[in-house]
Amino acid sequence: MFITILNMFWKSANKLVPICRPAKKTSIRIYSTHKKDDSERQKEMMRRGLPKVQKIDGVKNILLVASGKGGVGKSTVAVNLACAMKSLKNNFKVGLLDADIYGPSIPKLMNLKGNPELTQDDKMVPLTNYDIPCMSMGFLVDEKSPIVWRGLMVMQAIQRLLRQVNWGILDILVIDMPPGTGDVQLSITQNVPVTGAIIVSTPQDIALSDARRGAEMFHKVNVPVYGIIQNMSVFCCPNCGTKTNIFGTGMLENLATEMKIDILGNIPLHPQICVDSDRGVPITINTPDSDQAKEFIKVADKVCKRIFDS
Ligand code: ADP
Repeated sequence: MFITILNMFWKSANKLVPICRPAKKTSIRIYSTHKKDDSERQKEMMRRGLPKVQKIDGVKNILLVASGKGGVGKSTVAVNLACAMKSLKNNFKVGLLDADIYGPSIPKLMNLKGNPELTQDDKMVPLTNYDIPCMSMGFLVDEKSPIVWRGLMVMQAIQRLLRQVNWGILDILVIDMPPGTGDVQLSITQNVPVTGAIIVSTPQDIALSDARRGAEMFHKVNVPVYGIIQNMSVFCCPNCGTKTNIFGTGMLENLATEMKIDILGNIPLHPQICVDSDRGVPITINTPDSDQAKEFIKVADKVCKRIFDS
């Protein structure tokens, strides 16, 4: 199965190679009679050059969870938000797509292993835990081998993850985006109809300047930014309960005010979040009544209101 799926990636990548060969020499002359015509033509050419936005079969809403930087807890937030959305009274059907091709974390965070089965029409069947269907590159490659793919292969993989998964019917597909603002991020926003995006950041200056870039990228491609989640906002000592602002305070609030975006919630830096993530039992599943889980549930509730009230 694993070999079959990898072969499919190779075959589709090879099909694209001839497109990259240099074209025969031709000369095209464009006569311009009017400046306005030129700019209209340019706009039309750009429209044609962009990929067509196409719905994912069965998926009603797509929520992107993004971060400018790696290591700020984006995947942890994506997983806990998906579980929290599932736990809301509305009985939402939620799926989780791991778009981080080079560093997929969803298999570990959701305690899932194995290769997806294929349907008769060649679609991959997501692996499911906690009633959440999940798809990740991590299900298709060996856990210990590095993924040493060039851009073309990565884009093929993303296309396949977007188009060739049998999700059934989902109210919300949460996409755990790769960190940064590169090709993959742009390609996702231009290929599928995104309902909204949230940005995860720690309150450090260095993470925040990348979070700003992330928010600006979404503005440019007309994806609504629902807000920022401040992760590791405060450290709660599990012994004495003292709260310490390890990364400082106030910076994220300033950024949010400047960019006119909401702060959706503040997730504390808490050892239990880390321990539960490492065991593949998200804190919103393990201890939904804990303060940390309640903060995730509060954010999930806000985000769902934005998705379904708009
Ligand atoms: P990213 O997706 O941004 O690279 P991860 O979600 O993989 O980051 O998180 C990086 C590490 O930080 C993981 O070990 C995770 O368990 C831990 N972590 C994330 N958020 C918290 C938190 N609020 N409290 C404690 N540990 C956290």
